[in-house]
Amino acid sequence: MQESELLVRRIKEGTVIDHIDEGKGLQVLGALQINGRDGSLITIALNVPSGKFKKKDIIKVENKFLADDDTNKLAVIAPKATINIIKNYKLIEKRRVSLPNEIDRIFRCSNPDCITNSYEHIESVMDVVDKDGRVLRCRYCGRVLDVNQLKYN
Ligand SMILES: [Zn+2]
Repeated sequence: MQESELLVRRIKEGTVIDHIDEGKGLQVLGALQINGRDGSLITIALNVPSGKFKKKDIIKVENKFLADDDTNKLAVIAPKATINIIKNYKLIEKRRVSLPNEIDRIFRCSNPDCITNSYEHIESVMDVVDKDGRVLRCRYCGRVLDVNQLKYN
């Protein structure tokens, strides 16, 4: 058994987010608003050896099952991540994340003049124009958005 497997074991109910790109773990926590305030056990492992020359981050959260919005955020921040759903200590489902064709509402457009940043109550809509390159474009103002600098609604 690999060391990394030990780290993701023994959670009764919850989610293990594995294969997060090295260095993105804390960003994922922020985006998914995993903060431990509800008292759930959270384990964060950064820079876990993965393969010969690579590293990854792992997050293990008890009593949380990711919603679609969370999965979309994850696909943007950590496209190689896998979501492992644990129930009664057993892995019952393993999912890869993938980008949808459009992402509604969850990110803010970085253009301050964009109508979605005005006082009109217009929610953001972003088209995913390149899934591999993770290129998003605001449907309202056309700005191409850098996935590493997105702010969350
Ligand atoms: Zn915009």
